[in-house]
Amino acid sequence: MNITHVLGYPRMGEARELKFALEKFWRGEIGEDELEQTGKELRARNWQTQRDAGLDFVTVGDFAFYDHMLNHIQMLGCEPARIGFGNEGELTRYFAMARGQIGAHGAGCGCGSHSHQSQGALALEMTKWFDTNYHYQVPEFHPDTTFRLGSERLFGEVAEALALGHPVKAVLVGPLTFLYLGKSKAADFDRLSLLEKLLPVYGELLARLRQQGVEWVQIDEPILGLDLPDTWRNAFEPAYHLLNAAGAKLLLTTYFSPLQENLSLACKLPAAGLHVDAVRAPQELAQVADWLPIHKLLSVGIVDGRNVWRADLDAALAVLRPLAEKRQLALATSCSLLHVPLDLKLETALDPELKSWLAFARQKLDEIAVLKAALSQGEGAVAGKHEDARRALAARRSSPRVHCAPVKQRAISLGPGVDRRDSPFPIRQARQRARFKLPPYPTTTIGSFPQTPEIRAARAAFKRGELSAEAYEAAMKREIAHAVKIQEELGLDVLVHGEVERNDMVEYFGEQLEGFAFTCNGWVQSYGSRCVKPPIIFGDVSRPRPMTVEWARYAQSLTDKPMKGMLTGPVTILQWSFVRDDQPRSETCLQIALAIRDEVVGLEAAGIPIIQIDEPAIREGLPLRRAQWKDYLAWAVRAFRISASGVADETQIHTHMCYSEFNDILPDIAAMDADVITIETSRSDMELLRGFGEFKYPNEIGPGVWDIHSPRVPAVEEIVHLMKKASAVIPPENLWINPDCGLKTRGWPEIEAALLNMVSAARRLRES
Ligand code: GLN
Ligand code: ZN
Repeated sequence: MNITHVLGYPRMGEARELKFALEKFWRGEIGEDELEQTGKELRARNWQTQRDAGLDFVTVGDFAFYDHMLNHIQMLGCEPARIGFGNEGELTRYFAMARGQIGAHGAGCGCGSHSHQSQGALALEMTKWFDTNYHYQVPEFHPDTTFRLGSERLFGEVAEALALGHPVKAVLVGPLTFLYLGKSKAADFDRLSLLEKLLPVYGELLARLRQQGVEWVQIDEPILGLDLPDTWRNAFEPAYHLLNAAGAKLLLTTYFSPLQENLSLACKLPAAGLHVDAVRAPQELAQVADWLPIHKLLSVGIVDGRNVWRADLDAALAVLRPLAEKRQLALATSCSLLHVPLDLKLETALDPELKSWLAFARQKLDEIAVLKAALSQGEGAVAGKHEDARRALAARRSSPRVHCAPVKQRAISLGPGVDRRDSPFPIRQARQRARFKLPPYPTTTIGSFPQTPEIRAARAAFKRGELSAEAYEAAMKREIAHAVKIQEELGLDVLVHGEVERNDMVEYFGEQLEGFAFTCNGWVQSYGSRCVKPPIIFGDVSRPRPMTVEWARYAQSLTDKPMKGMLTGPVTILQWSFVRDDQPRSETCLQIALAIRDEVVGLEAAGIPIIQIDEPAIREGLPLRRAQWKDYLAWAVRAFRISASGVADETQIHTHMCYSEFNDILPDIAAMDADVITIETSRSDMELLRGFGEFKYPNEIGPGVWDIHSPRVPAVEEIVHLMKKASAVIPPENLWINPDCGLKTRGWPEIEAALLNMVSAARRLRES
């Protein structure tokens, strides 16, 4: 008999109860008991939901108040010594590691990438979980790091589930993945050397779970989908020999990426079962089925845990049936459902047709149950549900809402020069210099100015229909005029309108483009209590009308200085959305690029001389396997170039990137061929720029001189110092002066002070 399970379930709850409980707790409005109670209720509800859907196991251990890696840091007894904990309670230490001791909320820049969230100095670093937008707390390892069973929490949760009468499958992050995703904090120290000390604690953990009566333990080793150094690959076998001896049935679990050279290793490891991601690596499934000994359980991640589309049950059954004839299967989601919204039933604003195409976490449970029934009892047993799904899929495939012939036609009939500016950069640079006559070290900002509570309130009132369109527009124009006036007074060289009318840099465009839908409750955890609501790209993308042109035109009308138009780039829009699965991502990206190109051309026609196309997410789109980087970078860079190449040489194109490691993709950043790139650098004290210097980055650069995540105003000397460092690696005539990122989370007083210092620093540099 086949069995069914999921690798993990969303934690927040239908009404984001966890978020609100956490925030109350942090504000001191509720105590630990009440927070614990909320956690307990959410877990109980999630397990009941899994049982109600007919799954054979509920998953225990996927819940976390902040992050599951942080749970493991505590459970494995390796809280960093540098924090200097004394006798604080477990939960106090937990949140101190997550958020630092200061207890204040960090200020996000709203760019969706929160790796750089400002935390208290003591907090652990946070980084993206594989290629998702979920951020985990990074374990820290030293030569003298020790491990011990440091928390009873998991056993408590198992006991809860058992008391409720559920069949329990516990889940752990595997020891190698845990070590690999951490950071070595000493020079020349290989954290893999800690494995020997770590394994006994895993052994203890597994033995305890076994004692509790847990049969299966899902042990996640997603690093098997990465390009692993040999030392790490070789460590798996001895490690799993030890773990397997603890007596629990281990379901070795991989996801997100093909196993490739690790495939036979994964099949051979001493474990009672293997889970593979049949959505991301369908081509490997047959081989896995061949190589995995028949007495082992093969768990097939057949329902997509990373996207929101209803499954193609016929296609899934065609994959599963031949496997099921030969062996017992576990039917599962490809990965944890942490990465999709909770329940479609909460979407009251989506139209029924669109809804019929989607499956959120709750719906995916049903899909797994239907697949099981169809396999074991024949399709007749679930004919109704199956037929529904089939009809919805057929409707989606042929829907005129999805397919727009002119959009497709345009994408396939692009001329050869569509991704090329008229002239190479040196010629453009000369023309732009002649046109703008900017001083050396020109000053500018990255786009946004403060989104004050008044602005948000006005937008909310407008959306509720309480504020007329005229009144809203007038309010926004007042803000724009204010921002322009301040920039003129400060003496900045290239101005921006401030992005006051935008809620979010992707949503704002998605709302105006064809092919996008927005949920009202489609929250996905980004980190801690922070959730995002990614748009859904369901159809061919086009731009029916100008999106930003009138705002930019108005802003330009207020000043003689050049006004910089502000757009979000195609790769970033793609990256921060749920993307349709019925065509390659590259095709969807190309459609978005053409839509943005139309807007760029529209801005130029409206007299906007400088246009910035933000691409902060270009790095995070990189595939997990390096062999696939080239292909991704080729289409991503081309998409940017297409969006930017519809304008004359005299129109200056900027791009902006932040908070990623760029040095390994510098040739590709250069290939984007923006006239100016502004990047975040102030935190690394211009370290990042060294890469640009060594590579001899050919175009103009504005290295950020103000860490906008901090309220601290940089002094003039400091900015001069940073820019001098920059001039040592970049020709000074190619340098701009600007902050690290947008200023929407900062207050006006500190902005004025910091920008004034920026302008003074520029003057001083020009004199010397
Ligand atoms: N133009 C955007 C802003 O200023 C850029 C944000 C970002 O880089 N994430 O807010
Ligand atoms: Zn930025």
